[in-house]
Amino acid sequence: MSTAEYSQHGEIAVIRLNNPPMNTLSHAMRTAVHDLLKKAVADPAVKAVVLTGGGRAFCSGAEIREFNTPAGIASPNLLELIAALESCPKPLVAAIHGVAMGGGLEVTLACHYRLASPGAQLALPELKLGLIPGAGGTQRLPRALGVERALDMIINSRTVKSEAVAGTLLIDRIIDGDLVEGAVAFARELPQGAAGLRKLSDIKPAIENAEAFFAGQRQSAAKSWRGYPAPAKCIDAIEASLRLPVAEGMRYERSLFDALLEGSESKALRHAFLGERAVAKIPGIAEDAATREVKSVAILGAGTMGGGIAMAFADAGLPVQLLDTTPAALERGLAAIRANYAVTVSRGRLQQAEMDKRLSRIRGTLAMEDIREADMVVEAVFENMEVKRDVFTRLDALMKPGALLASNTSSLDLDEIAAITKRPQDVIGAHFFSPANVMRLLEVVRGAKTSADTLASTMNLARKLKKVAVVSGVCDGFIGNRMMDFYLRQAEYLLDEGALPWQVDKALTGWGMAMGPFAMCDVVGNDIVFHIRARRRAATPGLPYSRVADRLFELKRLGQKTGSGYYRYEKGSRAPIPDEETEKLVVECRAAASISPRSISDSEIVERCIYALVNEGARILEEGIAARAVDIDMVYLSGYGFPAYRGGPMFYADTVGLAKVAASMEGFARGYRGESWQTAPLLASLAKQGRNFN
Ligand code: NAD
Repeated sequence: MSTAEYSQHGEIAVIRLNNPPMNTLSHAMRTAVHDLLKKAVADPAVKAVVLTGGGRAFCSGAEIREFNTPAGIASPNLLELIAALESCPKPLVAAIHGVAMGGGLEVTLACHYRLASPGAQLALPELKLGLIPGAGGTQRLPRALGVERALDMIINSRTVKSEAVAGTLLIDRIIDGDLVEGAVAFARELPQGAAGLRKLSDIKPAIENAEAFFAGQRQSAAKSWRGYPAPAKCIDAIEASLRLPVAEGMRYERSLFDALLEGSESKALRHAFLGERAVAKIPGIAEDAATREVKSVAILGAGTMGGGIAMAFADAGLPVQLLDTTPAALERGLAAIRANYAVTVSRGRLQQAEMDKRLSRIRGTLAMEDIREADMVVEAVFENMEVKRDVFTRLDALMKPGALLASNTSSLDLDEIAAITKRPQDVIGAHFFSPANVMRLLEVVRGAKTSADTLASTMNLARKLKKVAVVSGVCDGFIGNRMMDFYLRQAEYLLDEGALPWQVDKALTGWGMAMGPFAMCDVVGNDIVFHIRARRRAATPGLPYSRVADRLFELKRLGQKTGSGYYRYEKGSRAPIPDEETEKLVVECRAAASISPRSISDSEIVERCIYALVNEGARILEEGIAARAVDIDMVYLSGYGFPAYRGGPMFYADTVGLAKVAASMEGFARGYRGESWQTAPLLASLAKQGRNFN
């Protein structure tokens, strides 16, 4: 099958992109369209041409897999194709259905007319990948839609529906009914020759008070896109559309695009984008592996996690039974769910009717008997092996054969839990993050005996919940929290050596982390972190922790919930305020350990904390807990506030260069608590060979 097809409807030629599902503009596609266009031009019987898409969509844009490869720029490249389309001597009509995105929309902007089906989605979402439109989007969209609307659409990667722009030069007309038939009829009515060639390039875009408008846009972009270079370039390019003819504007746009394409931010964002798809593919399990159908779910435990998990399932349209042991605990859980939904409604993010629908999917129960028929159970009871033993023994006796038995445990041994049952193949970890209905990350923990179809079914379900599901092997803390332990250790050592919590937090948020480590501990609760430390101490006896964290726990400074932790909090506020009491405590701990403080740079703070993640990440890879570096990156990007434009800890280390990372670590090994810097063998060997994680 060719990637594009040609047919003739009387005097009208129809070129149909035909590489479903998304008709991406691969080299093969560009070549096919280019050739068929030539054929239509050469045929004297053809009066006008319709360009349309087969399958579900017109075209979703460039083939991302070809970026940074020779195929990506091989002739005809997208610019050559677009030039050929616009200069077609016969009227050229784009007929859009489904989606026209990125390069796909740019292709239509080079056509002389654009028609669309109702509900067709149009977008130039390149900024999501750290790029700007690179094939005329920043030059032609302002001409089609006006400068202000075009800028809003591009800078926010906003998708617009065809109806919303019908009647503008972006969409001439909506075609109800058969799109191609409608487009052919439209093309027949067009005037012949030059009169039928209406080019966006011939329009001169304008906006009143252009200077003030662009200055304002630059200011607000700098604020909302800290660390991202593309938005400012996008504004530059759109501003150029007012000054330059399209061909020149496109050359300028392209120079900005090329620089961004080579930049680390865009590479990182593309890594994150492709990573979302990559983690769904599990080595050794076929993509079309048979899965068990999950039509109903039971959640055990209506606490913090159980409530959020119930909402996540209800949001995805699944009926949920929520079970707890006492009426009070159950009612507390259900009330929290109602309150959470009500807040979403009050903020305008959910309609009341939709909230009612979702709520109606969640049914509370106290009777274990009620959940017998559920296709899946997610256990979120107290984090205590005896409680879990009791629960899993009862589930094993009660649930129908083939039911998926998932545990949300954060720290207990999943294999031990699975061994409680006579069906360890059906037991799996589903480690949600709090709040479970909001956080995108789900660590799917594969036990030694978890069967392939249990795993595939859970991954399948995670997709329905719109989670980024990453498979982890069994170990203390799984991927995310195990690495976090080493990150926090370094952050705490830095306090011993001379930094204060707010300096550490500021250095890391300045670098791009959504939250600093100490503010994060105050959110999680310093009691919870204390218990994790207690467990980890046993696992790593030679590796001490700073005293500061333990002292905070002893002083019941548990964080936001007690009004003080590393920071203090005003009543009713979650804003962390640096606290003299903490500073005193840090100074006391240093004195007790006879450490004379030194001044520590922000770059040392960032390197120490981030490289600690990288080093433990390398061990996790080495041990096969994570199958690929991208799995680790996606855990940190979707669950730990790691900046997307840095691509995750492993990707970031790759950009720095592993030899450089390893050399810094050797330096740290000669400093305070140097014993915490045992370079992971995998990292050391990749660094020596000049190789990367990803
Ligand atoms: P929680 O204390 O808020 O809730 C636990 C609930 O389980 C309580 O309502 C309790 O009444 C109920 N329960 C106890 N025994 C039960 C039984 N036999 N049958 C039914 N219900 C029972 O705890 P949580 O924070 O929601 O944590 C639950 C699980 O999730 C733990 O395994 C925890 O490690 C894990 N987890 C917690 C977080 C978090 O941030 N809190 C994150 C990830 C995973």
